[in-house]
Amino acid sequence: MNSRENSGVDPASALRDEIRALPGGYHVPDSAGLIKLDAMENPYGLPQDLKRRIAAIASEAAINRYPDAQSRELKAALRATLAIPPGQEIVLGNGSDEIIQMLAMAAAKPGAVLLAPEPSFVMFRIIARLTGMQYVGVPLADDFSLDRGAMLAAIAAHRPALTFLAYPNNPTGNLFDAHLIEDIARATQKAEQGGLVVVDEAYHAFAGRSFMSRLGEFPNLLVMRTLSKLGLAGLRLGLLAGAPDLIAEIDKVRLPYNVGVLTQAVAVEVLRQADVLDAQAAAIISERERVAQALQQIDGVRTYPSFANFILFHVRDAKRVFAGIRERGVLIKNLDGSHLRLADCLRVSIGTPPQNDLFLAALKASLH
Ligand SMILES: *Cc1c(COP(=O)(O)O)cnc(C)c1O
Repeated sequence: MNSRENSGVDPASALRDEIRALPGGYHVPDSAGLIKLDAMENPYGLPQDLKRRIAAIASEAAINRYPDAQSRELKAALRATLAIPPGQEIVLGNGSDEIIQMLAMAAAKPGAVLLAPEPSFVMFRIIARLTGMQYVGVPLADDFSLDRGAMLAAIAAHRPALTFLAYPNNPTGNLFDAHLIEDIARATQKAEQGGLVVVDEAYHAFAGRSFMSRLGEFPNLLVMRTLSKLGLAGLRLGLLAGAPDLIAEIDKVRLPYNVGVLTQAVAVEVLRQADVLDAQAAAIISERERVAQALQQIDGVRTYPSFANFILFHVRDAKRVFAGIRERGVLIKNLDGSHLRLADCLRVSIGTPPQNDLFLAALKASLH
């Protein structure tokens, strides 16, 4: 013990050990001056007329007032646009990241487990640590499909309070087997204390597959969506859909004004013209197919099938290729070192056709 009174004690020692042991906050690389194909953003802006309406709405918005804590108008717009089944309820988050955090805060009994396959979305693990939950990562099979035996054994052994399944998965891009997801929902429900299964449909717009319409079949199933990958990443809006009683419990964890006045008003307006976002998603899907074919023709590149707005691919020396692509003005994501199974893997988000061409040229030039 240090005897000095006003010095010597690190003020940060008041904080939880597991926080202090973390290497640092989520790292966002500098993208200034680069074509940004690293974060699955929609590369298309909104049309001019919609931008003008947003400007008018923003200037009229009552930002001196707190937002509607229930986001009533926005929820109604989301229900209609995203086909939330009648009888199911929703809760909104400041991005779906915040919804993962709400779920973890609500579920973090001492020793409670958050389970996810690996590699998958890194926030599952990070948020488990931040909220004091035990994290269990279950390795995916060699082709990045869910390993049925390993998943069901891990569920039996660890009885997870929360199981997260990204559908399609990030960063691998594939869709897991829907029947296995059903079996996982049934297996976690059977565990002594029950468990919730969250199907994270962040890339729904590019996959065309969903568990949304099937919520009623599984009492412990929740479906999470976000507007981020659809074209509104800067707005920060995600949602969780499920049985009303369950959503009401999660809603207790939500801070009352988590979705701001501007986010609510702008999202309502954009959702009125959801066909704009749908058309952009269709363009991204067709570009995804074109880029995938082009990648398959490049010697030394191995691609993985994608149902999302990005493509995972393998090269011989990811670090060098990533640096070469960046030197040529394009920022993608280097996954080498993030997980054993992602050694020498890179991930490119689908951009506009000219951006994709620049990426393909930069990649070819960086391979030699
Ligand atoms: C991007 C992403 C999210 C987070 O989206 P936000 O709504 O922007 O917080 C959630 N899950 C997966 C799998 C993602 O890739």
